[in-house]
Amino acid sequence: MIAQNSIQEVMNRADILEVLGQFIRLKKRGANHIANCPFHNEKTPSFYVSGAKGIYKCFGCGKGGNVVTFIQEHEKLTYPESIRWLADYYKIELEESEKTPEQQQQQLAEESLRILNEWAAQYFQDTLLNTDEGQAIGLSYFKQRGYKKDIIDKFRLGYNPEEGHAVYKAGKQKGYSAELLEKAGLVKNRNGQYYDVYRGRVIFPIQSMTGRVLGFGARILKSNEKAPKYINTPENELYNKSRILYGMYQSRQAISKLDECFLVEGYTDVISLHMGGVENVVASSGTSLTEDQLRAIGHLTRNLTILYDGDAAGVKAALRGLDMALGQSFNVQLVLLPEGEDPDSFIQKSGAARFHEYVKENKQDVIGFRMEVGMRDVGNDPVKKSKLVNEVAESISRINKAEDFALQDHYIREASRKLSVDEAGLVNLINKYIRERIDQESRQKRTTERLPEQEAYPEYDTITEPQPEIQKKSSDEAQEWQLIRVLIEHGAKVMEGYANAADFIYQRIDPDLIETPMARQLFDIYFAFREAYQTVPDMSYFVSYPDQQIQQQMSNFMQAGEDVSPKWKENYGIETMHGDLNYINEVESPVAYFEIKKLKGIQAEVWERIGKEQDPTRMAALMKKFLELKESEKDMLKRMHTVIFKMRN
Ligand code: ZN
Repeated sequence: MIAQNSIQEVMNRADILEVLGQFIRLKKRGANHIANCPFHNEKTPSFYVSGAKGIYKCFGCGKGGNVVTFIQEHEKLTYPESIRWLADYYKIELEESEKTPEQQQQQLAEESLRILNEWAAQYFQDTLLNTDEGQAIGLSYFKQRGYKKDIIDKFRLGYNPEEGHAVYKAGKQKGYSAELLEKAGLVKNRNGQYYDVYRGRVIFPIQSMTGRVLGFGARILKSNEKAPKYINTPENELYNKSRILYGMYQSRQAISKLDECFLVEGYTDVISLHMGGVENVVASSGTSLTEDQLRAIGHLTRNLTILYDGDAAGVKAALRGLDMALGQSFNVQLVLLPEGEDPDSFIQKSGAARFHEYVKENKQDVIGFRMEVGMRDVGNDPVKKSKLVNEVAESISRINKAEDFALQDHYIREASRKLSVDEAGLVNLINKYIRERIDQESRQKRTTERLPEQEAYPEYDTITEPQPEIQKKSSDEAQEWQLIRVLIEHGAKVMEGYANAADFIYQRIDPDLIETPMARQLFDIYFAFREAYQTVPDMSYFVSYPDQQIQQQMSNFMQAGEDVSPKWKENYGIETMHGDLNYINEVESPVAYFEIKKLKGIQAEVWERIGKEQDPTRMAALMKKFLELKESEKDMLKRMHTVIFKMRN
């Protein structure tokens, strides 16, 4: 367990803008920063970050929280792991409180792979640079490829000795168990003997976005028909092939800065491009793109340019997974390299200037590329042609028409010309695919839709004259959260006749009327703090409160704009007010709401007694009382009309 004071230190040090800036492109807007949300796909930013409050909130998908929840969500880590991540980032030494043996065991298992990989990467690099064999075999291979010391360091390249047990012996000596070494893919057991899996190979460590070593790729140097050219780490807790993009750690800043990501196939393609000064490049290891990989790229840019060599395998790989990218609003371009060249050989031969020139001249969009490759294959076969037309129509249908109307239109004309089909027929086909997808989506939506919330006191609607019903416009729960938000945001501010706004709320509101358990809990925490310290807590106290749900809730208090709902004016003629004293209205509004709620509670009691009362005199008195209560409610509502209502939904 991490000691509480250490967690506090991390929370105090961690700057939300700095940390989030490692993963997404933040732009300043007013008091906040905005970005395209990393948790859902979008083209226009609805992800807001408040540097001052230390919280973020997405108004598209609803995700929100503080710097720790961001790391948890984004890096798929647990709470303590996220604290460790941040401590690591800020070089803060964590104090550990007592752990149970089970916790120790658990943590050990989680971190041991990470530690072992880090050690192994170091070992491989030391062997490459500082041993005779490493220099003679590994280093000379890299030198022959033109790799200099700086690029070897940048990608942490290494070498595994040929002898057969070198890594096993060195690892055992360091105290790593044979099981762990095997799990990490470094050694293998054959007939009771452990031998090095990567023996005689050069090593490419595969790093996470934050630079952690997740696994290795190892390339053979001697020609051997039976052995594979590359061996990779087997899938384990750290190494998950579908999530990995080689070079992400070294390239992410350039990708973000240049707003474009090149995608290549191999490790050496990435390294050679870096050497040639093209640093916005990652490799997908030859497989088709996965959703996880696209998401990782999408955090940094929506412009994806795929560089492929002319051989058939490369082309096929390029086409897989691209419909997914189109559907996620990526601007995908393809560049087919000259015959016989891969990105590695091409940049080494022609240099960066010619490379950029070539890319610019040969960029082709996915659909155009698909049509060209497809037409080559179709020949005079009508069945093949019909299949191709359908495929192209399906791809075009994935372009979001509202956002990219011109682009879709362009493709339709292009496809009609290149495939020699009728434009109107093609449009019909595209519309068919769009309709099918909409049907499918709405079917999914229907099953997840929630029932409307029950209205408060519905029985009164039938017996009283129509009147503005607060509850109808905004649920009780929203009003309760509104109260807590106002309390935390404005509690310390001046309120005439009271110590401060918090005191006003404390004296006027009956906490038992707060029905949402967490809102009540926050109300109680707030005033317990005031009781103990004779001052009110501010937002930062709750943002770093050691309860994740509370931290999470704080981000919900953030909002895009200070919009007063136009509906209020429309429905009730409520005028809005501007200026510094706005907070007074913000404080008065939930207080008035709770006063009406209290009144409605008394009304409900009286109404219940009327229903049970048999004696006509007492019944008449209760009726009179009930009507009086209705009158005061009306007065109260009238008074409320003079304050601003803000909708917080
Ligand atoms: Zn979102």
